[in-house]
Amino acid sequence: MSRRIIPLTDARSLPPLPTTARVRKPQRLVLDALERPLRDLRISVTDRCNFRCVYCMPRAVFDKDYPFLPHAALLTLEEIERLARLFVAQGVGKIRLTGGEPLLRKNIEFLIERLAALRTPDGEPLDLTLTTNGSLLTRKARALKDAGLTRVTVSLDALDDALFRRMNDADFAVSDVLDGIEAAQAVGLAPLKVNMVVKRGTNDQEIVPMARHFRNSGVTLRFIEYMDVGTSNGWNMTEVLPSADVVARIDAHYPLAPLEAHTAAETAQRWGYVDGAGEIGVISSVTRAFCGNCTRARLSTEGKLYLCLFASMGYDLRALVRNGATDEGISAAIAQIWEGRADRYSQLRGSAATTPSAAERRVEMSYIGG
Ligand code: SAM
Ligand code: SF4
Ligand code: SF4
Repeated sequence: MSRRIIPLTDARSLPPLPTTARVRKPQRLVLDALERPLRDLRISVTDRCNFRCVYCMPRAVFDKDYPFLPHAALLTLEEIERLARLFVAQGVGKIRLTGGEPLLRKNIEFLIERLAALRTPDGEPLDLTLTTNGSLLTRKARALKDAGLTRVTVSLDALDDALFRRMNDADFAVSDVLDGIEAAQAVGLAPLKVNMVVKRGTNDQEIVPMARHFRNSGVTLRFIEYMDVGTSNGWNMTEVLPSADVVARIDAHYPLAPLEAHTAAETAQRWGYVDGAGEIGVISSVTRAFCGNCTRARLSTEGKLYLCLFASMGYDLRALVRNGATDEGISAAIAQIWEGRADRYSQLRGSAATTPSAAERRVEMSYIGG
């Protein structure tokens, strides 16, 4: 069967609607060129943040002159809901809201309410979650839960207050985030996960204290290898601490044993404390690529569909939405774009195939949301 794949040439132009009128009925399984289904959608609801994490939004780049998206460029909450609904009809069962800092988006609770009402083709509710730096959670946890959020992931890179303030570079205290985690747990946003990005030489001394702190707490702590996302964080392989070292360091204090993955597409490898104090996860995006199971699509704040965290360009779904495309037309475009997907950056990292040209800058983490 011949497929007309929408060319990935110019992120600013509108991907043409399928002219072959091969408008497909929403179906349960759309496979990409490497046979990977479309299962997860990450939606970035803002490109702005109240933190300036050194590995994500270095202050020297993301300063007062940085060209953040103007308000009119953002997908409205109704537009996000419509696109989410069409993705769900194509097989997406899990949606993660992210950013920038998603809790900075006005009326995020309204969006959550709408997304929580969506059902998969099998009639199941979505696994609806959100990744946050935690700074606004104390204030917002109850409203998020009431709106229908299932659970939450909080980012925290250190327990040492001075180090944490240096890493977020916006003078937020560790206690702000710990209070947010407690508030989320208290309202039942569970199971709660905490993400720690490990940067060798910066916060790797915090691995064991973090593990100790979250043992027996019901929180799953996950260690993320520092990644070369975007072009502004000055990433260097020497600053990546392999997950195997993280596991070894914790295991020396608190013995660990491997656990089975929940699903084939799970990004984290699970380890359980032998003494029953809970589990941790390691996300080895650099040293153990998991592209083969990558079922994630990413929708940017301005409505571009990205097929990989390391992509340079995205497909402009907002243009389709604002130019009056029908649900069927947008669904067909999503399916066609996904069917043409062959991205596997982490597997190819370092090869010529992954070196972007000067014109193709990889998107920033704060724009696409991780
Ligand atoms: N602001 C929210 C937060 O920090 O949780 C959501 C957006 S943030 C971009 C999503 C996740 O990406 C966070 O857990 C953050 O620590 C992680 N992240 C950002 N830059 C990264 C990098 N270069 N390597 C690995 N993880 C990174
Ligand atoms: Fe903001 Fe999250 Fe990036 Fe930190 S990691 S700067 S909190 S978007
Ligand atoms: Fe998925 Fe791209 Fe990450 Fe591979 S590099 S796991 S394809 S987002």
